[in-house]
Amino acid sequence: MRLVFLGPPGAGKGTQVKMLSKALGVPSMATGDVLRMEVASGSELGREAKSYMDKGELVPDDIVIKIVEKWLRSINIAKGFILDGYPRNVRQARELDEILRQMNVELTAAIYLDVPENEIVRRLSGRLTCRKCGAVYHIEFNPPKEDRKCDVCGSELYQREDDKEDVVRQRFRVYTESTKPVLDYYKDKGKLLVIDGLGSIEEVNKRILKRLQELSSSSK
Ligand code: ADP
Ligand code: ADP
Ligand code: ZN
Repeated sequence: MRLVFLGPPGAGKGTQVKMLSKALGVPSMATGDVLRMEVASGSELGREAKSYMDKGELVPDDIVIKIVEKWLRSINIAKGFILDGYPRNVRQARELDEILRQMNVELTAAIYLDVPENEIVRRLSGRLTCRKCGAVYHIEFNPPKEDRKCDVCGSELYQREDDKEDVVRQRFRVYTESTKPVLDYYKDKGKLLVIDGLGSIEEVNKRILKRLQELSSSSK
């Protein structure tokens, strides 16, 4: 399975991608996680990316396309992959198709997690992220075992700077203007899978797995 995950900020992409990656045994990569690691390391790329991320703007295409291409060329592409948070605009979607074409493979599906705005606000306002490994929690819906500590690596959990209200609003604007057109891009290619993202984390996960099973049995 070669998949990309689409959906507004806070829809649950990261949560589901990490679960699915384990369940399917395929590697996954979140461009946002990679960019945050670059920012934390203080690299030149990180410093440039930070100026956009702090404002809730997209980091320039050339930077993220390079990150994705490098990663895709580092894995065994025949075994599959999942991308989280990429593509974020139509140019990125086209570039991905071109990279995959060069590697003689095709995308299996684009999964769109459909979640209404009021629920998004609830999810983002309580999101906690691990500083070290990027694991994601929610104060109410998915709390860590120990207060403000990551279950996976024990590091400190924090509220992302861009999860504060004014930046969230800007990220929504960017989503509506730049990322929503990507849904039509995949719809036109017959690759869009729309998944209802409401319900518990487990329920949504089962829904995705079921759709993917249907997909692989219909393509046999
Ligand atoms: P969320 O899923 O909550 O929207 P991400 O962690 O995916 O957040 O992204 C955080 C920020 O990183 C974005 O607001 C943007 O600045 C940058 N970013 C992540 N992925 C991309 C991408 N594919 N293209 C451009 N910028 C990106
Ligand atoms: P995205 O990667 O799309 O920005 P995340 O996976 O980081 O979204 O999820 C955003 C927040 O919502 C996190 O705090 C996460 O724990 C929580 N969350 C994810 N899925 C659900 C769900 N089905 N129900 C309630 N909260 C959820
Ligand atoms: Zn951690």
